[in-house]
Amino acid sequence: MLNKPRLLTPGPTPLPERVRLVLAQDMIHHRKPAFKKLLLETEERLKTLFGTSQPVIPLSCSGTGAMTAAVHSLFLPGEKVIVVNGGKFGERWTKIAEVHGLEVVEIRIPWGQTVSVAQLEETLRHNPDAKGVFVQLCETSTGAQHPVEALARLTRTRDVLLIADGISAVGISPCPMDTWGIDCLLTGSQKGLMVPPGLALIAFSERAWKKIRTVPASCFYFNMEGEEKNLLKGQGLFTSPVNLLLGLHESLTMIDENGGLEAIYRKQWALTCMVRTGVRALDLELFAPKHYAWGVTSILLPSGVDGKKLLSVAETEYGVIFAGGQDDYAGRMVRFGHMGWVDWADVTAGLHALYRSLKAAGGYVASRDYLEQALDAYHRALDVEPGRIIPEARS
Ligand SMILES: *Cc1c(COP(=O)(O)O)cnc(C)c1O
Repeated sequence: MLNKPRLLTPGPTPLPERVRLVLAQDMIHHRKPAFKKLLLETEERLKTLFGTSQPVIPLSCSGTGAMTAAVHSLFLPGEKVIVVNGGKFGERWTKIAEVHGLEVVEIRIPWGQTVSVAQLEETLRHNPDAKGVFVQLCETSTGAQHPVEALARLTRTRDVLLIADGISAVGISPCPMDTWGIDCLLTGSQKGLMVPPGLALIAFSERAWKKIRTVPASCFYFNMEGEEKNLLKGQGLFTSPVNLLLGLHESLTMIDENGGLEAIYRKQWALTCMVRTGVRALDLELFAPKHYAWGVTSILLPSGVDGKKLLSVAETEYGVIFAGGQDDYAGRMVRFGHMGWVDWADVTAGLHALYRSLKAAGGYVASRDYLEQALDAYHRALDVEPGRIIPEARS
């Protein structure tokens, strides 16, 4: 069928036409004035995006590269760190830290749930020698959102650095790095930022920079001190991902021209309410019931529904591309992405495709007015007063 493809996955996400056109431009040289202007202008906007006065360093790699850079630059082999592991990406922190020779203490969280402040407090008490805490803002494999603001209240008063993977949160839900006291915040280009994959961004607090200066380089490519020095001159350490930075500059300009971050967060919150209301109206189970992300909603399928078939019908019959579950949840879960260049009309299409393909995959559907309910929820949520950060969704 000649349907319009709609990429409703939690990364990569669709690209606005403005960004695609900019990406098609011919090359400019990464050591010449036009590039310096581009990088310095982008840098100012990135500081606003991250909520920091510190430099935000662009790296040519996927998000995992920035995770690797954080681990290698901030810690010495043999140091002890705490990892919040509530899914695939929490697990990835452990793997990267172990490769670097760190001693890892894991806080294991059942998938779909989030770490509590009490859990971290107790783990810190039992491990007074821990030097860092690693966590995700949004654990994209489950759709749960860890309470990073509250966790930072514990770490900022101790000699412990808090490293937050914001790959599916930056530009999607609020995470002001300096105000909250996050020591390292990082993200990738292909989730909330409406840019293709391949560009990562990372920033460090003042005290994290102090630590970095005491850690001898263990990796030639991810040299944060070198990147910082060059960034002040509008340069990267190596050849910069010129087109991706052009795309990022364009997408950040689009955000600025359309109400800034406040408007983005409001839209993301409204889309989250829309999806969750629609899913509940279809009598399906929301996998992260309490503390949930604003860019992806995980849906647990009833037994008897063939999840792989559902995904394939949604794509071939309706043009909607969802992600499935990972590990134990393969074939049992739909991850409905609604971040970046995705709006109410895409989500309407997504809910309709979910409804139709659920039936095709053996599911029973109770409600016929799920779209009406979902759109009502969207408009109600959109009407929150400007400037208000939505308390229900905060952990
Ligand atoms: C997507 C994602 C990653 C992995 O990013 P890559 O760009 O694939 O390396 C890591 N953490 C989170 C939370 C993610 O959503």
